[in-house]
Amino acid sequence: MIQEELAMVCCSDLSGHVKGKAFPVADVASRLKKGVGWVPTNAQITAFNTIADTPFGALGDLLLIPDPEAEAKVEFEDGSPLEHFYLGDILHTDGKPWSCCLRGILKEALAALKSETGLELNSAFELEFQFTDNTVDYGPGFGLAGFREKKAFGATYLAALRSAGVEPDSFLKEWGEQQYEVTMHPKTGVRAADDAVFMRELARATSQRTEERITFTPIRHPEGVGNGVHIHMSFLDDAGKPATYDPGGPGGLNENARHFVAGILHHLPAIIAFTAPSAVSYARLTPHRWSAAYNNLGYRDREASVRICPVAELPGMDPARQFNFEFRGADSSGSPYLQLAVLVHAGLDGIRNKLEPPEATEEDLSLLSVSELTKRGFVRLPESLDDALTALEGSVTVKSWFRDPFIEIYLKHKRSELQYLDGMSPEETCAAYEKVY
Ligand code: GLU
Ligand code: MG
Repeated sequence: MIQEELAMVCCSDLSGHVKGKAFPVADVASRLKKGVGWVPTNAQITAFNTIADTPFGALGDLLLIPDPEAEAKVEFEDGSPLEHFYLGDILHTDGKPWSCCLRGILKEALAALKSETGLELNSAFELEFQFTDNTVDYGPGFGLAGFREKKAFGATYLAALRSAGVEPDSFLKEWGEQQYEVTMHPKTGVRAADDAVFMRELARATSQRTEERITFTPIRHPEGVGNGVHIHMSFLDDAGKPATYDPGGPGGLNENARHFVAGILHHLPAIIAFTAPSAVSYARLTPHRWSAAYNNLGYRDREASVRICPVAELPGMDPARQFNFEFRGADSSGSPYLQLAVLVHAGLDGIRNKLEPPEATEEDLSLLSVSELTKRGFVRLPESLDDALTALEGSVTVKSWFRDPFIEIYLKHKRSELQYLDGMSPEETCAAYEKVY
């Protein structure tokens, strides 16, 4: 059959879904300049394809402009069509950034960090997902059997990532049933979040070709294992040298890193509404799931919202180059751009106000009473999306990081998503999310 070669320009939107418009590849040069037309109300299309209350209505025009640096062009070499899409920025027609463009929001956050501190953020996303076919024995967590079972998928997936410019780091059978994990090498700036979008979408692109169904939903059953997103962060100074590690600092954190982490923990009850933004995210964020239930810093502790990761102290290995901390309170129902942006804003606020993190934990916080938790500077994180949105609405500082009407849009979007789920049992709610993530 005759075929026109097509490419697509996409954004990762408030639901974490990737959307855009395709165009003939013959027009790439002009599309890189003028983009495609975009509609403000697209921001209000929820995870379930309903449209939330929108202040824009049918009005307004925007441009979605592809970034030539964020191009996925993957030839699977199986006779299937070339996978070809760009990630891009949503601008007003006069070229000004749009207040609800999540990639733009991240760029602004990173620029503020750089201009106020001289630091550049180096970050990497670690994603968990599950195959839905439970008729196969995947063997135990981290097993060779599980690796062998999905080696063909992993090999194709990692090759696809590499051809999109992502540097794959590892692929493994995680502990949960049919659960796998993929990690990438860190990147600076907005590219780390671009990579996270590529990691999700190329997993889906691979699974479509191999006819295996996968899901990134935060949790498949109320009592199940969570699919987390862990975001690793470290800093580079003006000269591009590592600037996170101080062997004499608490847990190895230097001054800026210490305040940055404190900022994240301080604002976490409000920003969790962005990092874990689905109704089922809060079934995952409960104690004993190796996710995040309190606003604690953990020293190599996987039950912490921010964990100081280990470094290999082996001959010839520089700890400063490896040293990083990891945010564990995120999942794939959110946009990586917004997730990283709020971590940067919260961290920068911590640096500005010289906030101090509570002492790193290596214990089970769920055994402590509320007054013991309070005494040590800990709170239980919101236990539902509704509570998280209320906390966000109540935080003047967090709201000040965004330009109007972003917060209004976000709250309306997420509350409408909750309305859609009204009356569903926890199992039905999980099933609804599994269908769309
Ligand atoms: N599955 C856990 C989560 O929901 C994380 C397990 C781990 O990698 O430590 O975040
Ligand atoms: Mg994991």
